[in-house]
Amino acid sequence: MRILLAASEAVPFAKTGGLADVASGLTKALALRGHDVTLVLPYYRQAMPESIWRQPTGRFIEVSLRDQQVRAGVVESRIEGSDARVLLIDHPHYFDRSGLYVEQESDYPDNCERFCAFSRFVMEAAKSFQLQPDVIHANDWQTGLVPALQQVEYRQQPGFENAAAVLTIHNLAYQGAFWQQDMHLTGLSDAYFNWNQMEHYGQINLLKTGIVFSDAVTTVSPTYAREIQTNAFGCGLEGVLQHHCSKLTGILNGVDVDLWNPETDPAIPMPYSKETVQHGKAACKKRLQQHFNLPEQKFTPLCGMISRMSEQKGFDLIQECINDLLREDVQLVFLGTGDSRYEDFVRDLTMKRPDKVAATIGFDEALAHQIEAGSDIYLMPSRFEPCGLNQMYSQAYGTVPVVNAVGGLVDSVIDCTPETLADRIATGFQFHDYTSSAFLARLKDALAAYREDDVWNVLVENGMSCDWSWNRSAEIYEQTYERAITNLPNNPY
Ligand code: ADP
Repeated sequence: MRILLAASEAVPFAKTGGLADVASGLTKALALRGHDVTLVLPYYRQAMPESIWRQPTGRFIEVSLRDQQVRAGVVESRIEGSDARVLLIDHPHYFDRSGLYVEQESDYPDNCERFCAFSRFVMEAAKSFQLQPDVIHANDWQTGLVPALQQVEYRQQPGFENAAAVLTIHNLAYQGAFWQQDMHLTGLSDAYFNWNQMEHYGQINLLKTGIVFSDAVTTVSPTYAREIQTNAFGCGLEGVLQHHCSKLTGILNGVDVDLWNPETDPAIPMPYSKETVQHGKAACKKRLQQHFNLPEQKFTPLCGMISRMSEQKGFDLIQECINDLLREDVQLVFLGTGDSRYEDFVRDLTMKRPDKVAATIGFDEALAHQIEAGSDIYLMPSRFEPCGLNQMYSQAYGTVPVVNAVGGLVDSVIDCTPETLADRIATGFQFHDYTSSAFLARLKDALAAYREDDVWNVLVENGMSCDWSWNRSAEIYEQTYERAITNLPNNPY
C-alpha cells in the first residue's frame, strides 16, 4: 500500500507527548512491513536536533488561505531504521517557534490558521510529490481537516480517487475548537458549518470534522474506543462517536523497541535483560539516586513518574495522599512539565522532603529512559488515558506500574491478584476508583509486594516477557486501511 501519514509531531523531530512516539513508531513499522510510507510533519526548526539528517527538496508548495497564496518549502528526511520518507513543511512564520502549540501555558492564538494551513500543505505535498496514496492517515485535531479536504476537494482529482481517509484520535480532550469566524481559514464552504459536520456547539471543531469525514476512525486502545462513546469520557463528542461507531476501531499502540529496550538503551548506565535484571536495575537505581541526590538506599522502593503535568495525569490524587504516602519507606522521582500548579506542588515537595522526593521540571528524553530503568514502581494514576506509553515502557524495563483502570491502562496492565500471579500473567496493579484512597491503597499493595521477592520477581519477569513491538498493531492498522479502501464509494477493487 502507499500510505501517507500526517501528524503534528514525531520522534525524533519534535515531541510533546505520546503522539510523537506513535507517529514515528507506526510509520517505521508499516515501512518495515513493505509499504511505501511517507510521513508529513511541520518543520519545527527550533525543536529539531541538529544531528538529524535533512535536505531541502528544492520544491515549494502553495495553498490558498484567506484568498491569499501561502507558500512553504519542503525539506526531506528519513525515519531511522526504515526507508520511510519524511517531508517537513517549511513555513518559518507558522512553525519556527519555541513551542509546538503552546508558549508560557497559552495556546498560540493562530493555531487554527497554522494547522488548517498545515493540513492543506499535506494534501498539496501529496500532489506535488505524486504520492498517489491508497490511504491518507491523519492524527488528532491538528490534521482533522485532512479527511474533509480529501472528501470535499481532492477525491475528484487525479492521484486521490482511490485514497481512503483515516483518522486516529490520540486524545479526545484536545479537539481544536475555534470560534466560528475561523471557518474561512479552512477554505471550505460555510455550508459545512452545521452540527452534522464541522460545527460543535457554535464552534468549529477540527477533531469532529476529522471523525465525520473519515472513512475509518481509530483510537489508541480498545477500552478507550468504548469509553469515548460514553458521557463520562466522550468530552462532549460521545454522540458524534456513537453515530459513527461502525467505523471506529481501538488499536493499542506499540512500542518502538529500537528506542525502548533495556538491553540496548544507550541512555542508561548499565544495560540489562530479563536474565540480568536484578543486577542491572540495581546499578541503574543507584545512579538515579546519585543523579537526584537521594539517599542511596538499595532496598527502599523507588517510584518514578514521567508525565505532562496536567489535570489528566492524576497529580491531584498524588497531592491528596502525599502526606500518607511519605510516611512509607519510599522514594519518589518526577520528570515533567506543564500546569504551574502541579510544577509548584512538585517543586515544593522536593524542598520539603529532599530525603524522599526529587524532580526535574522540564523535558528530558535521556532522563526519561534513566527513570524507567532506575525505578522499581511506575506511577500512572491518570484520570483518563487513551493508551499511555510509559506503563508499557515500564514493563519492558522491569518496572512495575500502578495504574488507574481506564483506557489503554486496562488493556496493557494485568492486575496482580492471587489468580493472575499463580497463572504468571500479572504485570502491575490497577485501582478502580478515581480517588486518592483507592490509589494509595493499591500503591501500598505494590510496596508490600516489593518486599516479597517471590512475588516481585514474577511481576518483573512477566512484564519483561510481554511483546509490545509495533508489528502486532501495525497489522491491525493494515486491516483497518484495507476495510476503509474496500468501503470507498467508487472502490475499483
Ligand atoms: P501523553 O501523550 O498523554 O502525554 P503518553 O503516555 O501517551 O502520554 O506519552 C507520553 C510520552 O512523552 C512518553 O514517551 C513519555 O516518556 C514522554 N514524556 C512526557 N513528559 C516527558 C518529559 N518531561 N521528559 C521526557 N519525556 C516525557
